[in-house]
Amino acid sequence: MSVKWPGGARVAVMWTFDFDAESVWLARDPDNADRLGVLSQGLYGAKRAVPKLLELLAETKMPATFFVPGWVAEHHTDRCKEIIYAGHEIGHHGYSHEWADPRRPDAECADFDRGSEVLDKFLNYKPRGYRPPAAEIGANTIKMLADRGFLYNSNMLDDVYPYRHRLPDGRVGPVELPTHWAIGDANYAMTSIRHPRTIQTNDHIFTIWKDEFDELCQWGGLFNLVLHPQVIGRPSRLALLRRFIEYTTRTDGVWHATGTAVAEAFAAQEEKG
Ligand code: ZN
Repeated sequence: MSVKWPGGARVAVMWTFDFDAESVWLARDPDNADRLGVLSQGLYGAKRAVPKLLELLAETKMPATFFVPGWVAEHHTDRCKEIIYAGHEIGHHGYSHEWADPRRPDAECADFDRGSEVLDKFLNYKPRGYRPPAAEIGANTIKMLADRGFLYNSNMLDDVYPYRHRLPDGRVGPVELPTHWAIGDANYAMTSIRHPRTIQTNDHIFTIWKDEFDELCQWGGLFNLVLHPQVIGRPSRLALLRRFIEYTTRTDGVWHATGTAVAEAFAAQEEKG
């Protein structure tokens, strides 16, 4: 199957940013709370990267979806508001950014609901989409989203087209907006002393993104780029993103959209049958 996008586009492109700031480092190891150096890499996302990304998105007139943990909405409230004022979408990204334990569904729901409360209280925002922290879900996750009326989830790697989740009891779940580790930044450039990773050049990353994108234009589908301000917001990486945005704008038949717009377009097509 393929999906017919608005305006006859062949491919939908989503620019998504997991705005984790320090929360991703705190979730990896609570002792990092006292390691200011470790935390500073996350802080860069809030302090320097998001403003630069908002500039780039404004210059290129691109819509984006920022997945924000509740912890970040609490600690970097003004930055989150700037994202909303710029017209971008905010997605749910848990509260603590902890990896959900499938054996403890109640704990997963509690962290999720705390995230929803904080986004509402600090940003007056009710997200419609979810990207699970560390891109992992269990059976409880989809039920949790369905129970709360969420429009979409975005972490799965099993397709290049959106699809509909079904619960074991046959109930309709959220739309899935799939992605892949190859179309992101973390696996190429996110590194730390305790979790070292070889840092890749921009040409290497650009080539993989471009090759995936070019082929997907033949298939039709969804190009869901998963980025992190603390990674893609470094000076040279912003230049990489600018180069790639411009590449997609020079290609015919591309629809740039937020997660909600993509999920709604898919759902509308589903209704038509
Ligand atoms: Zn994250």
